[in-house]
Amino acid sequence: MKIYNSLTKKKEELKPINEKEVKIYGCGPTVYWFAHIGNLRTYIFEDILKRVLNYNGYSVNHVMNITDVGHLTSDSDSGEDKLEKGAKKERKSVWEIAEFYTEFFKKDLELLNIIKPTKWIKATDTINDQIELIKKLEEKGFTYTISDGVYFDTSKLEKYGRLWGESERKEMKGRIEEVKEKRNQSDFALWKFSPKNEKRQMEWESPWGVGFPGWHTECVVMSIKELGIPFDIHCGGIDHIFIHHTNEIAQAEAVYDKPLANYWMHGEFLNLKDSKMSKSSGTIITLSTLKQKGFTPLAYRYLCLNTHYRSKLSFSDESMDFAENSLNKLYEKAFETFNSSKTEYSERYNEYIKKFKEYIDDDLNIPGALAMTWDMLKDKDLSDFEKHELLINFDEVFGLRLSLIKSDENISGSKYIIKTFKDDLPFWTSDINSLPEELKKLVEEREESRNNKDWDKSDEIREKIEKLGWQIEDSGNKTIIKLNN
Ligand code: AMP
Ligand code: ZN
Repeated sequence: MKIYNSLTKKKEELKPINEKEVKIYGCGPTVYWFAHIGNLRTYIFEDILKRVLNYNGYSVNHVMNITDVGHLTSDSDSGEDKLEKGAKKERKSVWEIAEFYTEFFKKDLELLNIIKPTKWIKATDTINDQIELIKKLEEKGFTYTISDGVYFDTSKLEKYGRLWGESERKEMKGRIEEVKEKRNQSDFALWKFSPKNEKRQMEWESPWGVGFPGWHTECVVMSIKELGIPFDIHCGGIDHIFIHHTNEIAQAEAVYDKPLANYWMHGEFLNLKDSKMSKSSGTIITLSTLKQKGFTPLAYRYLCLNTHYRSKLSFSDESMDFAENSLNKLYEKAFETFNSSKTEYSERYNEYIKKFKEYIDDDLNIPGALAMTWDMLKDKDLSDFEKHELLINFDEVFGLRLSLIKSDENISGSKYIIKTFKDDLPFWTSDINSLPEELKKLVEEREESRNNKDWDKSDEIREKIEKLGWQIEDSGNKTIIKLNN
């Protein structure tokens, strides 16, 4: 399979270090607030990567960190620690804040059907390892100390800025220097001293003074600790190319003289129609915001699948409407084909499997694979059985929980087809007793008036049913009852 490597700026054939296993590190959340749907887009992209690797027969060793200290409000090493600031705002301890938002984040991932990392690791659990790395950098002459901390001297590393393109070089030149004592604009903090006039909640002793580690040191230490050096793929959002990942690479190369990871993959941003979404600006949309608007988490996942991970995605309620409707149609298709009689697998079936693999192996072309899925569902040369099998097969990558769409066995011969929802997923049953009592009575009354050809009364009852949030329609001798989304 091919993936785009931000390091070489090319699509490359993936050649993992171990034949059967791929080692991935993805920068985790900074847990001072809820994850917004932009952050979550990046984790959906990483999940798709893992699923495509699994589909190709690799096992995946995926490490994700929790940034619970050291990520400052400005990426120029000035400004407050986001966690300390968040704790002050909410009048809680930093540890409570970190714990609360970490747990919330994990629940968001579950709602989006994102496969759990093989291992979670917290920055605050690796402080000693970080101090050891800084000591090694010091021994090799890459550090210097100024009034607010210990810094990495980027001029000492010949290959500094390997991820950069022309725009990053320009951006660094145009940067307003906020830490005046730094030797070079691109130098970055390895260890920051606690402020003299203020007591931090999180701080540790070190050979250089009491303080806390820099964010870039945390990730390089945690990834190497769990995966060794080099590992296969390092992921994150595109904003990390310029500073965070550049500085992780710098430390790894300075100490080990080896690349940190062989492939670097970055997900493009999700933006609101007219503005950027960022936790620090305070304008964020979360999964809960979507829920309030009546959208399901998996519809958001569908929205993300429908745009390539290296393209910008502009968020709007209209695009969510489209995603929610498309996902529902997919569920309906999974339902309609569920109980179909078994057939042989045709040549056509195999062609679809082959095409699907070509799409996903081409740098995760999921929008292509999705479009092909819709064509497949319309293909008259496939049996319903094959369609269902293909849907379930493709869903190993899509992760839309299509295999959970089931109906009870009696449904094909039954009078009623009832569609409700269980845990945000549609659920079909033939059992009229599963309806709320009031609704069940109305359905039976309507049936009676239809039998008596009393159409006015039947219409009247339909309106009552609709007021309760349900739709009712007749198809042949069947009655279809659906709970509105
Ligand atoms: P943070 O919690 O701020 O450390 O960010 C967590 C992840 O979300 C990182 O990989 C960021 O690169 C990514 N990220 C931040 N904002 C966005 C956005 N608007 N769209 C996509 N990814 C984002
Ligand atoms: Zn990181």
